[in-house]
Amino acid sequence: MADPLATRRGALAVPTFLPDATRAGVRGASSEDLRTIGIEGVVVNAFHLLRRPGARVVQAAGGIHRFMDWDGPILSDSGGFQIWSLICQDPSRGVIRDNEVIFREPTTGEKWNLTPERVMGLQLQLGSDITVCLDDCTDADAPEAEQERSVERTVRWARRCREEFDRLIAERRDADPPRIFAVVQGGRIEALRRQCAAALAAIGFDGYGFGGWPLDADGGLLADPMRWVAESLPAAAPKHALGVGRPDHVVNAFGLGYSVFDCALPTRDARHGRLYAFRDGWAERRPSTGDHFYRAVRIHDPDYRVDHGPIEDGCDCPLCSRHSAAYLHHLFKVGDLSAERLATLHNLRFYVRLFALLRG
Ligand SMILES: [Zn+2]
Repeated sequence: MADPLATRRGALAVPTFLPDATRAGVRGASSEDLRTIGIEGVVVNAFHLLRRPGARVVQAAGGIHRFMDWDGPILSDSGGFQIWSLICQDPSRGVIRDNEVIFREPTTGEKWNLTPERVMGLQLQLGSDITVCLDDCTDADAPEAEQERSVERTVRWARRCREEFDRLIAERRDADPPRIFAVVQGGRIEALRRQCAAALAAIGFDGYGFGGWPLDADGGLLADPMRWVAESLPAAAPKHALGVGRPDHVVNAFGLGYSVFDCALPTRDARHGRLYAFRDGWAERRPSTGDHFYRAVRIHDPDYRVDHGPIEDGCDCPLCSRHSAAYLHHLFKVGDLSAERLATLHNLRFYVRLFALLRG
């Protein structure tokens, strides 16, 4: 078994799945719910928290852990990907320059000036346990010149993030500082992915993320780029497959050397009535790449109206241990809010069980 990922709020057994609590909450579930089903850590988004409620509000609450009643490890994503995708969708929202990102709130006109230094200061202000450098995202299929610029900026920003992080830790005389991860860019170009990974490793970070959208146009995992990156990083360094969440993709990426995962997929799917279940005989077996180990349950399907068994036999989640598929189908049908909560807890418990199998 691999070494756990140590943080100042305890060690995360790896591989670890950290649900997305983007705005300081996992949609549909309370922090108490998450503890009950065995979740050990969560991911928040520094950029979204800067927008709402603002870093000062979180700081005045006593930090992000107190604010959301979560005492386990919290990884704060810098928001590089979200800023990029919002500006891509609507260029009037801002601009990404060589030395800074400017983002305008579409409704209030409020302007955020984000530099690598500001993003690190913000994450320390929140009090997160694993901070992430600001990176410059691109589309995986963007032209080579654009990918080169993204790698150049990402490495330069990562160096500035590292320096600011070290300066702030020294200034605070923090004896038990958070960790700092960097993010690798380079699209689908092997030389650039390897060059970016090597340059970040030379600066030195506690862990490294695979940056950019991790899937191809058909929804398949970018397995080759993920492999180039993993091969170009120190073998023992934690590798974060940012946004990789489909169960078969998780298994594939784990096989490539990735050990930290976060994704909104299981909670979003749950809210839409899409649940995961192990196929017969797979609840106790460690799956490998290519195995068909799970099935999707579409609870809105009329067949579930009279299915009085659990979603998955043997699942110990708050849904399956007390309620039938027919009951969940009914709750969704009548628009009861507990439908989303119960489905979310089932899907997250499925991930907890899957990750326990992968740890072996
Ligand atoms: Zn269940």
